Amino acid sequence: MNHLLCSKCNQTYSLDKPIWKCDCNGLLNLEFRAIINKNDLKNRPPNMWRYREAIPVNNNENIVSFKEGFTPLVDLNISNQNVKIKLEQLFITGTFKDRGASVLLSKIKELNINNIVEDSSGNAGSAIAAYSARAGINCDIYVPSSTSPAKLVQIVRYGATLHKINGNREDTAKAAMKAAQTHYYASHYYNPFFFQGTKTIAYEIWEQLNFNAPDTMIIPAGNGTLLLGTYTGFEDLLKNNLIKKIPRLIAVQSDRCDPLYKMFHEKLDMLPAIEKKTTLAEGIAIREPVRASQIIQCIKETRGTVIKVHDREIEASLIEVSKKGIYVEPTSATVIAALKKYNPEKDEIIVLPMTGHGLKCSNIF
Ligand SMILES: *Cc1c(COP(=O)(O)O)cnc(C)c1O
Ligand SMILES: [Zn+2]
Repeated sequence: MNHLLCSKCNQTYSLDKPIWKCDCNGLLNLEFRAIINKNDLKNRPPNMWRYREAIPVNNNENIVSFKEGFTPLVDLNISNQNVKIKLEQLFITGTFKDRGASVLLSKIKELNINNIVEDSSGNAGSAIAAYSARAGINCDIYVPSSTSPAKLVQIVRYGATLHKINGNREDTAKAAMKAAQTHYYASHYYNPFFFQGTKTIAYEIWEQLNFNAPDTMIIPAGNGTLLLGTYTGFEDLLKNNLIKKIPRLIAVQSDRCDPLYKMFHEKLDMLPAIEKKTTLAEGIAIREPVRASQIIQCIKETRGTVIKVHDREIEASLIEVSKKGIYVEPTSATVIAALKKYNPEKDEIIVLPMTGHGLKCSNIF
């Protein structure tokens, strides 16, 4: 059962085929029997590659890694609520995207590919650029010209070729897709290997909660790389009989770019056409997430919901969490703003990922 499966025509492909979508243009999902054995974990180093048998990379020599992961899970009392926050801003590029980049670049190295393209609103581009540098692979990164300057500098410093696109996020994706006709597309949202990295957040949380799943996760969602990864990780744990159920997944969107919010609450089968306005939450301002149906299905299946937050609420939450010593980017503060709109049950264990480092953005309020 280890293969790539087209979500549209059910065609399957070997995991060693260098493709990122089906010949029919359908999205590819990765079907892989992830093995997690509690006893094996005891003596392994504290990084995401400790779940070696759960990650579909064949040879250890191909692993592209900075020994990332196993970010701290710490208690936080905020807005009179006890939660646990996972410090995902502490990765080497400053966001959880390193999880996906480590696995995707490892697979790309395994496939003997030397030139890749990626498009991003900044952070995925930084992660792909850093791990390409680590692997000695050439990469071209496409970003909207409005991206935070700190993220642009970071991409250039890693040695990637930066293409600033005058236009919106969708124009940027189109430019990258065009380049992907001649280069391998290391897309964090099309390429299913990326999600095989982001899923490791779930394994870590399970270990850190003394081999238990939390009740609820509140996750910022644009393309859903963290949300879908989280779902996949807990699903793997469930299939290994290590947890009883997948936590409730709550997605957070900005009210200035809220296609998933509308799709979920208006019970739509397809993405609504929406207008996107600029928002502080630039990391999740995705007007047309290609995996929208999958995201909505995971939310429904786990009895979750979608919460939207306003820029003023994001700003207030960013200030509030900063005063607790946590410096994150505005996109990450959306989950604190969402927590204020959520009514948990007594003793509900809620985990909030802090997705990106504050040094990535220097918005002054
Ligand atoms: C990428 C990112 C997210 C989540 O976005 P998805 O597109 O849903 O993967 C959240 N916060 C930050 C800081 C990000 O860079
Ligand atoms: Zn297909």
